[in-house]
Amino acid sequence: MRCQRWAPAMLYPSYAERPPKLIAGSLVLDFLNTVEWRGDRTEAGERLLNYGELVLWSLAAGTIDAATAKALSAQARRDAEGAAQALGLALALRAELDAAFGFAAKPSRRLPLLDDLLRDAPAIGHLAHRQGRTIWTTGRSPDLRLPLVPIAISAASLLVAKERAQAKSCGDTRCGWVFLDETPRQTRVWCSMEGCGNRAKARAHYARRRT
Ligand SMILES: [Zn+2]
Repeated sequence: MRCQRWAPAMLYPSYAERPPKLIAGSLVLDFLNTVEWRGDRTEAGERLLNYGELVLWSLAAGTIDAATAKALSAQARRDAEGAAQALGLALALRAELDAAFGFAAKPSRRLPLLDDLLRDAPAIGHLAHRQGRTIWTTGRSPDLRLPLVPIAISAASLLVAKERAQAKSCGDTRCGWVFLDETPRQTRVWCSMEGCGNRAKARAHYARRRT
């Protein structure tokens, strides 16, 4: 299992209190944004601190519904070791995909974890239609890797698509969040105008006033 590049320093609240900002326009890129301030050693903070956070993130992202989230959480309580392994796999997969999309310090083309997940996906879960929505779900004894299946499929789809060239990271290198730039001329600079965009505008305004 691959180690993280650095130990995240900041503690951020649970997704239950502060839901994920799904701004990337792509499930897999939103998954890479489960670290806050990716490019800043002091502010950086892991949001996937336990298996429950992965379930909450998936619920917010809409890949699973409340019933599946409940089943996964119950299974995680029954099988703490399995939950720790699934979380470890999630973090290692995130590092692998970060490198595959070229955002990590060391880009890599190796995708062993993604390959394994895609191979096992049919045994891990299946699609279901509930209350007008299509979601991923699992059988009576839930496979705790289920939240990773839609992420793996999103990753595989984007890696081979021409849109892959539109995957960018935020103009604020401390933020480092990634997104799909779907603007007609590829002019999106910030992960969000409300956050990084506004901060940059305020900085520019302050600099103009000083000169
Ligand atoms: Zn940003």
